[in-house]
Amino acid sequence: MRKYHLTSFDKNNGFFEMWKKTFQRRLFCDNSYRPFTKPVRCLQSNKNLKKMSRIIVVGGLSAGPSAAAKARRENEDAEIILFEKGANISYATCGIPYALSGVIENRKKLLVVKPNLMRERFNIDVRLEEEVLDVDVHSQLVITSKGEYSYDKLVFATGARSVVPPIKNLDKTTNWSSCRSLQDYDKIIKEVIDENAEHVTVLGAGLIGVEVAENLIEAGKKVTLIEGDGQILPMWDSKFSYFAKTALEEKGIEVITSTFVKAFGAHNNQIDKVYIDDDKFISTDFVIMSVGITPNTDILLKKGAEHIDNGALIVNEKMETSLPGIYAAGDNVAIRNLQTGTHDYFPLGTHSNKGGRAAGANAAGADITFKGAYKTAIIKVFDYTLARTGLNAKGLEEAGIPFKKSLSIAGATPGYYPGQKELITEIYFHPETHEILGAEIFGEAGVDKRIDVLSTAIYAKLKVTDLSQLDLAYAPPFSPAKDPVVVAGFVTENILEDKCAQMDINELEAYMVQRDRGEYSFIDVRTAREYNRGYIPGAVNIPLHDLRDKVAEIDPDKPVILYCLKGLRGYLARLILKQNGINKIVSLPGGFKLWQMMDKKIIIPEPEMVKVRV
Ligand SMILES: Cc1cc2nc3c(=O)[nH]c(=O)nc-3n(C[C@H](O)[C@H](O)[C@H](O)COP(=O)(O)OP(=O)(O)OC[C@H]3O[C@@H](n4cnc5c(N)ncnc54)[C@H](O)[C@@H]3O)c2cc1C
Repeated sequence: MRKYHLTSFDKNNGFFEMWKKTFQRRLFCDNSYRPFTKPVRCLQSNKNLKKMSRIIVVGGLSAGPSAAAKARRENEDAEIILFEKGANISYATCGIPYALSGVIENRKKLLVVKPNLMRERFNIDVRLEEEVLDVDVHSQLVITSKGEYSYDKLVFATGARSVVPPIKNLDKTTNWSSCRSLQDYDKIIKEVIDENAEHVTVLGAGLIGVEVAENLIEAGKKVTLIEGDGQILPMWDSKFSYFAKTALEEKGIEVITSTFVKAFGAHNNQIDKVYIDDDKFISTDFVIMSVGITPNTDILLKKGAEHIDNGALIVNEKMETSLPGIYAAGDNVAIRNLQTGTHDYFPLGTHSNKGGRAAGANAAGADITFKGAYKTAIIKVFDYTLARTGLNAKGLEEAGIPFKKSLSIAGATPGYYPGQKELITEIYFHPETHEILGAEIFGEAGVDKRIDVLSTAIYAKLKVTDLSQLDLAYAPPFSPAKDPVVVAGFVTENILEDKCAQMDINELEAYMVQRDRGEYSFIDVRTAREYNRGYIPGAVNIPLHDLRDKVAEIDPDKPVILYCLKGLRGYLARLILKQNGINKIVSLPGGFKLWQMMDKKIIIPEPEMVKVRV
């Protein structure tokens, strides 16, 4: 391998460029110029005598270009080289699923920033199809497929690669792909869209798997989505993921959970069967692999860089790795979880952009921090949106943080305005400090703005009692007078003031299994008409309007479980009962609506005898 330590070695006239630069440097630089393994430091010919340093950025997709562009904005004098092993930089990975369906019209639209823009606008030396093979940390050298380059600061933005699981026959077949790169996009477009594959199997129902499945349905394909976990979208609480699963199934996606595919049936190098059990299979034409990613960090791990279990590099809030002069950002790093204080893996575009920006700035001599994140995420599931922020029950239990939760259903817009949609919001909070710890929302409209309000609230360490005080924008097309976030605040305050106590569906089911029916009162406070259309097994009907007259019929010594359609009437019923000396009362949050959404058993009474007048 040839060794070059200078700026402009390029494929065509590398030697001449090298010679020319060497000559120029000899003419214009001071004695600090060291031609070989040491970093290149030049002096400008002006009187400011600014030092010129070389920043090398490895990886040209999201974090890398962010870092390079920001480094340039911070330091006009630095020499910045960006190495990308692929043929493109800065394309919109996040847009790939939507380009499969044609929502994003074509491939061209995915190419966000062209190399020439980086070269011309930012004076960045972009080297395409030049893979970085190694880094000599002590000599501050980057070794690529084409040469060696010294650096003063290195930004490692190598991202991650898709995990390819060891499934039998995968290595003997070609009609499968990950969905991570433009090459993957090209292959899927050719073999699935252009060659008109009828059925596609998507393995892995995380964010990407679900987006891909949805867009393949939109493209007219039959789709089976298979997930090893017991639920799709495992980042969410199980009931929220159940809502999303229902939304997928309503549009025709076959969703299979708790299933690890161990073998493919192969014929002529083509997968034709996906075995979901020893003798049970799904016939398919193409498989998309979306079962996880691995950070591309092997090069620095070999140099002893600190990392978490999956190999993601631990960085501080300046995006410095544990290796001197080496910054990292994007899908190859573990950033601080601002809630637990630990380093967690959040491979998302928003973090790769912000992290890259901070890494580039700091490599160029600025002082910028990227403090971390707390798992905010959002996904479109056909007509619905599912979003989350912070910690949910699972995360809180794992972190050993005590919590309480509250669930509410509220209109995203007022009932009087056409097309009202509802949001289901669950909020987790600390039982003593009342600090908001997490939230999840599902609905058809306005989920995005509410989750961002709650995410901001977590960042600001607001308490649940602050939510009802927020001055949120209100006009009928956008929001009701009591925004769902404010309603969530009201409900939570009621819990704190003991005006409301919630028992969620899982708790209710467990309670009903453990107790004899005679040990508690289970009351449906909806109208008789609503009740007669279907009720939760075991519930008796005492409509809210009749409750005051019938209080005497309720045993004050037994616990009372109340529910209505969504929660409000259950809450009002509780207040009435409490003031009548009944104290052990809980309500089912989300009421009958949530029960139905979870596809739980309901009883539909026999139709009443119709009295015919003669
Ligand atoms: C289909 C899809 C949809 C997504 N949707 C969303 C979304 O909606 N919202 C969201 O927040 N995030 C989303 N993401 C995640 C987001 O795209 C990633 O977090 C982001 O792209 C990570 O950027 P990165 O630069 O760290 O890494 P990568 O995107 O992995 O890029 C790393 C680059 O480094 C190059 N490289 C690696 N090693 C070397 C080497 N040794 N030498 C030279 N070059 C090298 C690679 O070729 C690659 O171009 C999505 C991802 C995918 C795949």
